[in-house]
Amino acid sequence: VAKDRGRAHYRYFQEQMNLSFPNEALMESHLRRAIEKEELSIHYQPQVNLLTGEINSFEALLRWNNRKFGYVSPMHFIPIAEKSGIIFKLGDWVLEEVCSQLKLWQDKGYRMVRIAMNISPQQFKQDNFASKIREKINKYNLLPSSLEVEITESAMTDLQDTFTILKELKDIGVVISIDDFGTGYSSLSYLRKYPIDIIKIDQSFIKDMETDEKSAAIATTIIRLAHSLGMEVIAEGVEKDTQVEILKAANCQKAQGFFFSRPVPIEDINKSYMNYY
Ligand code: C2E
Ligand code: MG
Ligand code: MG
Ligand code: MG
Repeated sequence: VAKDRGRAHYRYFQEQMNLSFPNEALMESHLRRAIEKEELSIHYQPQVNLLTGEINSFEALLRWNNRKFGYVSPMHFIPIAEKSGIIFKLGDWVLEEVCSQLKLWQDKGYRMVRIAMNISPQQFKQDNFASKIREKINKYNLLPSSLEVEITESAMTDLQDTFTILKELKDIGVVISIDDFGTGYSSLSYLRKYPIDIIKIDQSFIKDMETDEKSAAIATTIIRLAHSLGMEVIAEGVEKDTQVEILKAANCQKAQGFFFSRPVPIEDINKSYMNYY
């Protein structure tokens, strides 16, 4: 990057992609081989019950450490995976990892632990998505409710298809959550049509909660909305005790965020929460 192009140009690239990759095409070709090269892993972030302090669920977050260019954030590589179709391979890999991890826990007697995995809209709309999930649950003989699928509002378009897939998932018995709630542009009416179990409040509302009354009002209203619809609610991106206090006062059951723990490798989860190793 030429220096005289100025700061704005530099900042554009910094925000758009990992600086160490010279271009998107190169990132894509490395991403295509990331599984074979064993460059992928999953970090887990605990979800904390605000009333009891208990932890019995974790969100699985994909990590990519490229041999040549180093760590790449999912915020950079997931959009490229989605554009290029690589997301199907990545998604299958994550599903396999998550299910085999659940199997390990269930064999050790941790039957009630749940893992939430992120699902891209393209994956969700695959013809065989629900049967894929069913196959894995059967393969590992898992409690279906130990697996949670996180879907964003952007996957909630074309009503009939979405309803059919969600209904299939619900029949299998997996838990369904809406990720980044409040930032999509879909209407609220899907909340009464679809079998949704959990709403995850987007972290942007949590971030500004103490300083911006409107963000606090939106977060509080989402909590009440979820409860009046019989759904659970999780606050994302909780970084401070002051946010925890506001959320508790608003009756929010669960939260995740750096305040409690960053996403960490599985060894750390086993050490901290599973009483073995
Ligand atoms: P997300 O599903 O909304 O995940 C939450 C993101 O917020 C994660 O970023 C997490 O590390 C971060 N986070 C958690 N607590 C805090 C906090 O207190 N403060 C702040 N500032 N951030 C916090 P991450 O791991 O970089 O993932 C970014 C996004 O990439 C995810 O957003 C998700 O949309 C996507 N993603 C990650 N893994 C997968 C995957 O396996 N499949 C798919 N399709 N998407 C994934
Ligand atoms: Mg998520
Ligand atoms: Mg997301
Ligand atoms: Mg989110």
